[in-house]
Amino acid sequence: MKQSIYSARLRRIRPSASVMAKEIISQLKKQNRPIFDLTIGEPSFEPPSHVLDAVTRAMREGKTKYTPPRGTPELRSAIREKFLRDNHVEYQPDELVVGSGAKQIIDTAFAATLNSGDEVIIPAPYWISYHDLVRLYGGRAVTIDCKLEQGFKLQPDDLQRAITKRTKWLVLNTPNNPSGSVYGKTELEALGQIVSEHEQIWVIVDEIYEHFCYDGAEFISFASLFPRLRDRILTINGVSKTYGMTGFRIGFAGGPAGLIAGIETLLTQSTSCASSLGQAAAMAALNGPQDSVTANVADLAEKRELLSGLLQKIGGIRIFQPEGGFYFFIDVGPYLGRKGRRGVKITSEGALVAYLLREYGVATIGGANYGCSPYLRLSFAGPKKEIQAGAEALRRAFDELR
Ligand code: PLP
Repeated sequence: MKQSIYSARLRRIRPSASVMAKEIISQLKKQNRPIFDLTIGEPSFEPPSHVLDAVTRAMREGKTKYTPPRGTPELRSAIREKFLRDNHVEYQPDELVVGSGAKQIIDTAFAATLNSGDEVIIPAPYWISYHDLVRLYGGRAVTIDCKLEQGFKLQPDDLQRAITKRTKWLVLNTPNNPSGSVYGKTELEALGQIVSEHEQIWVIVDEIYEHFCYDGAEFISFASLFPRLRDRILTINGVSKTYGMTGFRIGFAGGPAGLIAGIETLLTQSTSCASSLGQAAAMAALNGPQDSVTANVADLAEKRELLSGLLQKIGGIRIFQPEGGFYFFIDVGPYLGRKGRRGVKITSEGALVAYLLREYGVATIGGANYGCSPYLRLSFAGPKKEIQAGAEALRRAFDELR
């Protein structure tokens, strides 16, 4: 029998739906198809100008070589200050690491810790990559359904029930992609209390959307509430979303020195270090004035209102008003089984996503990619005009489903 070149590991994962959606949409746009893109996973605002100046300067000053694998001392010092200033958490220099995006650090943390069969508890809906990266490294993704009525938040009793001797990690993401939920202090305290009773469990807390909170929702960093768990918490963050710097590929994490050293070992064998210019840019973003963040959050809050108002006009869908992030996650269950244009029957969530794109030019991502179906994720990170036109096309589409 002919042997396959591909590893069994590769077969355990799927391409990221949001990354693929971006590819497909750019192909369609090149063919001049009018597309309203509600899949966008990155802010449309540009990085602040002082960040761009810093990159030019860094290039001219010859900061064009490898850096230490865990990041330049200057950037790590800026990250230390950021954690103190924004999150009230103190990390020592050996407790910080920089990666090529938050995604790389999450990937490397799982690579550094998971043995075959280790369990990782992931509340659903979840950001696609947690699930697939756990599987990539032979771990078992134990997903817990979190209901819309409960704000898509993990309930302490459900967490308690899911814990076994093999549980190694709990993954928390606040504000959450895709649901938009933001965990409050008492909710985090209840979950942390359970974690503290099980010493085999570590927690990855992905706080990459921390600044995007609306209607008075308050972001609280999990590690700030649990100094006694600091040796078991890996706090993930980055500059991609906050400063519109997704292409710079800089993420970072604070956590126990031993785990950070393990992550560093793997980085020395994979990317060696994150881009030197990206690191110079990230340092300028973290150290510089933060007024662009405030302005961008205000702009996102307006787009959230806009999309919310338009979605309210669609009958029959259940909407969770996001407290943070930049997505709506809507329940489209009542529309399955109905007929649309040319008598097409919408038999599944996937069929609905394809139908909306084909017939109305509206690009969305199906909830199954986030472990929760039948839902659609709709982004309000794009330009206002596109959000408006996309939501209006969605309303027409749902109105015409009988
Ligand atoms: N975590 C969450 C919840 C995200 O939504 C994303 C990007 O979509 C990331 C991490 C990855 O961020 P980065 O660009 O820093 O790799």
